[in-house]
This record gives sequence, structure tokens and C-alpha cells, in this order.
Amino acid sequence: MHCSTVQPVGQFCQSEVCNGRKLGKYYCEPCRLFSDTDEPIFHCKDCGLCRMGRGLGIDYTHCHKCDSCVEARIFDDHICLENGLHSNCPICAEDMFTSTDAVCILDCGHYIHERCLDEYIMHDYKCPICLKSIGDMSHRWTQLDAYLARNPMPEEYANKMTTIACHDCGNKTQAQSHFLYHKCNCGSYNTTEVSFEKALEVVDGSSTTLERSLSQLSAFTMERTLSALSAVSA
Ligand SMILES: [Zn+2]
Ligand SMILES: [Zn+2]
Ligand SMILES: [Zn+2]
Ligand SMILES: [Zn+2]
Ligand SMILES: [Zn+2]
Ligand SMILES: [Zn+2]
Ligand SMILES: [Zn+2]
Repeated sequence: MHCSTVQPVGQFCQSEVCNGRKLGKYYCEPCRLFSDTDEPIFHCKDCGLCRMGRGLGIDYTHCHKCDSCVEARIFDDHICLENGLHSNCPICAEDMFTSTDAVCILDCGHYIHERCLDEYIMHDYKCPICLKSIGDMSHRWTQLDAYLARNPMPEEYANKMTTIACHDCGNKTQAQSHFLYHKCNCGSYNTTEVSFEKALEVVDGSSTTLERSLSQLSAFTMERTLSALSAVSA
């Protein structure tokens, strides 16, 4: 682009006009990659591409199980997920192996773009792939303990139990039934009510369970309304 001399690809121009002019601060022969950025770049031959970073053994280590480079500072703690990076970001669907955006690993071992995660955790706390909680939720669980203490179920439902599945520990347990939140033995509220899920499954079969659940729910709402009205008129 400087002297228009046709020549083999290389980091330095071979023409006399340019006199050994450097054509890129960084040049990678196998990738044929030229870069003028001040950010450090290194080539990983196991990945077969160049990555942003200072280099293997410095800030990155290649993991042969994940078949990808992993940041050195988290290498000892990372959970290997076979070909984990050879997947698309669960939020923006971009291929993460070749992505130039920073990718991070969740505690559950799933990969996601850092910027996509930042946006995502503004409105959800579950891994978009396996539904496990992202990060430490103990503060939120304490808040929910307090919420349930302030908003108990009406007396006739007070001892009703329900089956729940916990996304954090993976167990199915019995929990005190509530219309909003169910706490697992492990302390997590990241749960799904299994009996309600079953009710939904039978929608196109005999929908009796679902109808019963719904009529119970509307009875509950009705009673609430009536008691609220009587409280006002009293
Ligand atoms: Zn030249
Ligand atoms: Zn390269
Ligand atoms: Zn690598
Ligand atoms: Zn690994
Ligand atoms: Zn993404
Ligand atoms: Zn996950
Ligand atoms: Zn649990």
C-alpha cells in the first residue's frame, strides 16, 4: 500500500523504495495477521490463531481438554468443558472461539462474552444454559427469607408442601408451598415447582391437574380480594 510492489507476504517491505519499512507492529506468519494495536497479541499454535494477550505461560495457558486458551490467573480453578469455547455465546450467538471480545467462564463451566454477561445480569441471575445461579446469591436469599416471613400464605395453605427441583444443587425436595418462592434445603431459591410443571405438561391430555391448580389459584385470589374488601368496610 506504500510502494505498490508485489512481493511475498511479510512484516517488512522488501522494495528499495520502502527500505525495510515495518508493515505492522505485530505480524503472525501462520495467520497472516498484521496489527498496529498497542494491545499485546500472541499466537497459539494449538488454537491455530492469534489471541489478545501477552502470551502462553505469561497470562494465558492452553488447555487441551477445553481445546482453547484459558487465562492463567483462573487456570487452576477453571472447570474443563470439552470444546467449551467451540460454541456460540448464549446471548448474542457469536462463535466464541474466534471472537475478539473477552469471554469469561461461569462457575458452572459455561462460556459467555464478558459484555453480554454484564448486560444479562442486570435482569437475570441464572446461567442462560444450565440455569445455575451466577455468582454468590446469599444476600438475595436472605432478602427472600425476610420477604416470605412478611408475606405468609393464608392459614388454610400454611402447611401445604410441594415438590421442587433446585437448579443449584440439582436435588428434588419438598418445600413449604408458596405462590412465588420456594426454598431448597441447600438454601437456594433458584428452584422450579415440579408439581406445577407436571400440571402444564398435561395441558393437551387430561388437563384436570392444571384446571385444579388454576381454580385453586383463582379461589386464593378471590379470598384475598374478599378479605381485603371486608377489611376496608370494617
Ligand atoms: Zn513498500
Ligand atoms: Zn497467529
Ligand atoms: Zn490456545
Ligand atoms: Zn480446561
Ligand atoms: Zn455474546
Ligand atoms: Zn451454566
Ligand atoms: Zn438446592
